[in-house]
Amino acid sequence: MHAGKPMRGQPQPTRDAVAVLPQLRLSHHPVVAHKLTILRDRTTDSATFRHAMTDLTVCLAYEALAAMRSTPTRVQTPLEETDGTMLGERFAIVPVLRAGLGMVDGFLTLFPSLQVWHIGLYRDEASLQPVTYYNRLPALATVDTCFVLDPMLATGGSAVTTIAILKEWGARTVSYVGIIAAPYGVQRLVDAHPDVSIHVAALDRALNEDGYIVPGLGDAGDRLYRTSGDLSPSAEREA
Ligand code: URA
Repeated sequence: MHAGKPMRGQPQPTRDAVAVLPQLRLSHHPVVAHKLTILRDRTTDSATFRHAMTDLTVCLAYEALAAMRSTPTRVQTPLEETDGTMLGERFAIVPVLRAGLGMVDGFLTLFPSLQVWHIGLYRDEASLQPVTYYNRLPALATVDTCFVLDPMLATGGSAVTTIAILKEWGARTVSYVGIIAAPYGVQRLVDAHPDVSIHVAALDRALNEDGYIVPGLGDAGDRLYRTSGDLSPSAEREA
């Protein structure tokens, strides 16, 4: 591995090779593509970026939850009683700090009482290895499914580590929900956890030498939280 350029010379699978993996669930919805384009646009300010990420996560959550078991029930309308259906599985979301926080509101929009468990990992920029600094899982695994939220599936290191932590703790079924994946990250996640489904809005071309997804959207955490240092004058005025 080259010092300072951790992906230089690293072989990467092609997009075509990874696109056919059964674990990968790529959204083909035009609303998802529309919101993703807003996220990719370098001129999108952070307020609009956060909003678009929430909207996009609502769509991805809707698709990721399509495989959930449902339970028949009866419901009383204002006019009469009829058949209804409720989700029959309990699930929680696990945002990976910090960029995963940008996806929390999307799930909470659909299910406001969801349990939210936080895991803090950062990516060591020299080695690209994940470093765990925070873990706020409850004492017992009380749900059927955990959805790990992390917008960028780049090297896959954070996703692989987070899912390993969840499995060791007792999670039965784990799914990953992200915004953009690189072929390298998808392959690594599938190799480490073949039982995990991967729901994303896009599968991009590759990782660059610094480990960023290209074309990607840049650093998701910086764009959500304005930590990149290149704040627009209008954003400064509003602050
Ligand atoms: N993390 C990001 O925020 N963006 C990338 O492109 C890769 C990792």
